[in-house]
Amino acid sequence: MAASGGGLPFRQFVLKIHSRCDLACDHCYVYEHADQSWRRRPTVISTEAVAKAGQRIAEHARDHRLAEVRVILHGGEPLLAGAVLLASIARDLRRAIEPVCRLDLRIHTNGVQLDEELCELFLAERVLVGISLDGDRAANDLHRRYANGRSSYDQVLRAVALLRQERFRDIYAGLLATVDIRSDPVAVYRALADLEPPNLDFLLPHGTWDSPPPGAGEPGVTNYADWLMAVYGEWARDGRRVPIRMFESIIATSYGGVSATESLGLAPSDVAVIETDGTIEQADSIKVAYDGAPVTGLDIFRHPLDAAAAHPAIRARQRGIAGLSATCRECPVVTSCGGGLYAHRYRSDSGFANPSVYCGDLKKIITHVRAEEAARRRPGHTMPQDHFDALAAGYGDAASVSHLNAAQRSVRRALLRLVHDRASQDAGGTFAGGWNLLTRMDNSSPGVVDEVLAHPYVRAWAERCLRTPGAMGADAGHLASIAAAAAIRSGTLAELDVPVTDGYVHLPTLGRLRVGDTVTATLAARGEGDFEVRAASGKWHIEPGTREEANQDWQPVRELRARGFAVRLEDTDSYRDCHQWPVAGRLTADEAAGWQAQFEEAWRLIEQAYPRYAPGVAAGLTTLLPLANDVAGREISAAARQAFGAVAAALPASGADLALLIIHEFQHVKLGALTDMFDLCDREDQRLFFAPWREDPRPLGALLQGTYAHIAVTDYWRVRRDMQTGPDALASAELFARWRMMTAEAIETLAGSGALTPLGARFVEGMRATVEPWLGERVPDAAAAAAERWAAGRREAWQRQRES
Ligand code: SF4
Repeated sequence: MAASGGGLPFRQFVLKIHSRCDLACDHCYVYEHADQSWRRRPTVISTEAVAKAGQRIAEHARDHRLAEVRVILHGGEPLLAGAVLLASIARDLRRAIEPVCRLDLRIHTNGVQLDEELCELFLAERVLVGISLDGDRAANDLHRRYANGRSSYDQVLRAVALLRQERFRDIYAGLLATVDIRSDPVAVYRALADLEPPNLDFLLPHGTWDSPPPGAGEPGVTNYADWLMAVYGEWARDGRRVPIRMFESIIATSYGGVSATESLGLAPSDVAVIETDGTIEQADSIKVAYDGAPVTGLDIFRHPLDAAAAHPAIRARQRGIAGLSATCRECPVVTSCGGGLYAHRYRSDSGFANPSVYCGDLKKIITHVRAEEAARRRPGHTMPQDHFDALAAGYGDAASVSHLNAAQRSVRRALLRLVHDRASQDAGGTFAGGWNLLTRMDNSSPGVVDEVLAHPYVRAWAERCLRTPGAMGADAGHLASIAAAAAIRSGTLAELDVPVTDGYVHLPTLGRLRVGDTVTATLAARGEGDFEVRAASGKWHIEPGTREEANQDWQPVRELRARGFAVRLEDTDSYRDCHQWPVAGRLTADEAAGWQAQFEEAWRLIEQAYPRYAPGVAAGLTTLLPLANDVAGREISAAARQAFGAVAAALPASGADLALLIIHEFQHVKLGALTDMFDLCDREDQRLFFAPWREDPRPLGALLQGTYAHIAVTDYWRVRRDMQTGPDALASAELFARWRMMTAEAIETLAGSGALTPLGARFVEGMRATVEPWLGERVPDAAAAAAERWAAGRREAWQRQRES
């Protein structure tokens, strides 16, 4: 359900429980900036306000079907609320919210009051603890002092030492440091990294164009970028031993992922603040703009949270790129920057419609991290020029595709690490059990682990966790299913909890087991292919080679075989629905037999008639995914960038048609993997281009994909016409003439776009070298004329579309 008025739901709630602080940090946005509303609020939140907050959050989660919400207990200094009140707040919130969704409960503190008793309390109440600490003693003492000037450093270090103890390690959420450019960036980083925070966040000091932070806001001055670049360099040098949210967010958003911090990226804001008096406000950082800036005029006693979600000031922060200034909208790093933190854009004459006061710094640090990351990713996966050229020509043999396989292995493992970094505190025991088993088997059975991770829908799962808001909490537990599949394949003895989705335990690469209406099950791997599943609904024992005919609850993944080549016929995986068309359900035995017959015919044809494609396909295609097709006679097929190795199709009319679908879609698979390795187009170029085979204009990357795929389509009909006689040969000749014309035209559009990288230009040149000679091949006049008419019709449609 959408919020009334159309706002997006909140997923994070900052609950102010104490509005005073025992430190007097001079960079604090609560006390030291324009907004002074703290003076008018109650010091401590009332039990009525806590109860109402819990009720409102639960109501909001239920109305929006949220799987999880995060509540951060905040202040002032929240520990000043005292142990008794803290315990009752945690319990009241859990009692109200947990019947509706998962509650990720945290507290953010300056740490000076944190002692063993409070740690025990937070452990018992499952409250994760984040601490503010600005670096080494010198950096911390620049600001984080008591009112009498005394340093807080020793008390905070003592607090962090407590959290690092084995007993409290699980409640240690991380450290938050505010940057001061006068401090030594390397010393700050090392001091913080030595404290082994599960997450490290750097915060730029708050300021606006009216009141810029020290050393920012001047054209050409990039003190903060320079400081952060020094941290990045040290972080890279020491093997990135702690996750730094700012850098990881820049990297993630540069590769299509989502930012983990609201200060970067284009993701809509999902944070609401509830003050000690129950008023609902915007994110705290806006206090820096002007007195009263965060005010919404709403409070939890009189208004549901949906009213706040629909508030114009909150909706303004959910509009993605459309909500940014014109300068930001055209900025080459906008996907990573997102205009910076909302508060930092403020100027009294133009409100928030400006780039960040840190614009120059943000542009520089993002460009730097992107360049370093690109360089870091590529040396391990460079590709010899001849293999690159073979792929550019439209083909590529087993050796060329093996480079793509190797690069994809790194992509998958990097994604898995990212999921781990982001999920470990959110996803609970199922994820942790899967992670532990998988890392154990990575030593004992690395080949099998790789084989399971290479299943196309493992990456699709990881990307869903990282990119889909709210998916991490709901989906991360699938890692246990992945690990269980690897244990069963390798014969590793293991027992772990696995999720149940839509009534099935899913085991990627192996199949699915129907266990009925339950949420989790326990799986015991007993030996190779041998496992037992226990759930509230029953108990199952699957022995090696068990077939569906023998146990109808067990639906193993079938294999299609042809002349020594085998692929999986994947109709069970719970993450397979990531192609552009809906997937088919579990196939009947007869339907599977239909696929087997066509696959044999298709593969024989590919090997015999298309020998330049066959070795690459054999080296990279692992999976055929049946799609649903409710329109008889329509051919549908697809590949997905996040599902390397898979081709999806509805079963076409013949094996020859399936051969065409396979070589066509496998072009997308190859090029998707190649563009994971190399930038072929300028990713920031937003223009749309005419694609001769479509009526709608396409971005350059999509045009490149289509053109590359249509080389195979052209080649298919080129060869096919010589294998046929009579009207069939004429029809194939017309299709050859049609596709060579369109493919050649698209190659020229690409070459003239001005948006190819040098490597992209080389790639397009390779495509042109393949297609150009085909333009000279003779076809019957009737076929050429029909193709010309068809192409002219397309151009007219495009023209009409442009004019409208
Ligand atoms: S770098 Fe500057 S112009 Fe670019 S998006 Fe960020 S704030 Fe806007």
